[in-house]
Amino acid sequence: MQDATLLLMLNTIGAACTALLAFSLFQIPQPGSSGAKGALRYLRFAVVTWAFAFSAGSIQVLTQELPELRLLSVLLANLGYASSYFFICVAISRRYSSYVLRIRSWQFILLLTVTAVTALLLIDQFMLRNLVMPQLHTLLLVTALLMMNRSQKSFHQGDRYLKICLYVLLANSLITNTALVNLTIPGITTSLRVLLFILLNGIVLTTAVYALFLNDIIEQTKNDGQIDPLSGAYNRRLFSELTAKPEALNFGCVVMCDIDNFKRINDLYGHGIGDQVIRKFCHLLQSALRPDDLVIRLGGEEFLLVLRQTDLIQANMVANRICHQTSKQVIELSTESLCFTASFGVTQIDDEGLEKAVQRADVLLYQAKNKGKNQVMADLSAPITFSSHFA
Ligand code: GH3
Ligand code: MG
Ligand code: MG
Repeated sequence: MQDATLLLMLNTIGAACTALLAFSLFQIPQPGSSGAKGALRYLRFAVVTWAFAFSAGSIQVLTQELPELRLLSVLLANLGYASSYFFICVAISRRYSSYVLRIRSWQFILLLTVTAVTALLLIDQFMLRNLVMPQLHTLLLVTALLMMNRSQKSFHQGDRYLKICLYVLLANSLITNTALVNLTIPGITTSLRVLLFILLNGIVLTTAVYALFLNDIIEQTKNDGQIDPLSGAYNRRLFSELTAKPEALNFGCVVMCDIDNFKRINDLYGHGIGDQVIRKFCHLLQSALRPDDLVIRLGGEEFLLVLRQTDLIQANMVANRICHQTSKQVIELSTESLCFTASFGVTQIDDEGLEKAVQRADVLLYQAKNKGKNQVMADLSAPITFSSHFA
């Protein structure tokens, strides 16, 4: 088989696999925390641009005889690669925004640098670039996914397609490497070729190990059942798990939230609009919190926020901010603008555990309702344990 035909075939398989990978990432429901949500969104962009780069690579093979078109496809492919690095970086920074000092991503930074430098070095080496870049990209993506999974449960279920695609991409890399032995690349001696062969297969094997790990992690974090399909927040199942593992939450606060006069919204505008209000409120809660905090829909229009490593004063401030933002939300209907408010009860998780704290927060929420709604009641009379985080 001719070199160009082979490369075209491999590039096409690469593009198809990456597109499938992107498709699989779009199948993963939005995670509960806002950081993980942002990370997933940018990871999707990364994979889409990566597929685009692969496709531009295929065009490059097809347009070898047409210098202008070839130049254009080289530019497009590089643009695609550059964008995918950028999006992977943004995804990681979104995920780790509150961990800047604790970042343990040196492997990733190193890999990213190697990939970017290799891409630059091989800018004119069309054959070599086509061989090396897919491997580095696969490794980069798997590392990115792994890092996102390491800190907290960002992907909420093992995705069948994701695993299949990763394995197909790995197989693609293996075929590419094997084909390298038969390629006629100017300036590449036999010994250099053998060295490259060993190096590239080394990368594939490392990636395979990573992918295997990824499999395990995805299995571990398999929690489809913990996500509420309407709002994308966690549901009661996660709450039950948390109460069963009190050691998981030894310091922090809980906030009970309930939309005011929701029954009237349903009665006046219908359940569809009611659902829209729930989604909007949930989105506001998720975007107001840090990646490690939890938003749990306990039922109806009632949400529980678990703020880790947060003292009562901070939690009270967070709740007041959310309360204010909620009152500013507007849903544009065809004939009018719909506004809504919510009430909040805030308390600290103490030695009595999460369940008792939620009961206390519920009582405070009830008081907020009785006092006229659209406000926050916090258990400020209780002794406050200050967060070591901010002390
Ligand atoms: P308050 O200000 O005291 O909280 O009054 P409320 O009307 O918000 O409180 P109530 O708990 O009486 O009403 C909740 C309503 O939410 C009743 C139920 O029909 C409705 N509901 C529960 N789940 C859903 C849902 O998934 N979608 C919609 N649209 N409505 C729901
Ligand atoms: Mg209500
Ligand atoms: Mg209610």
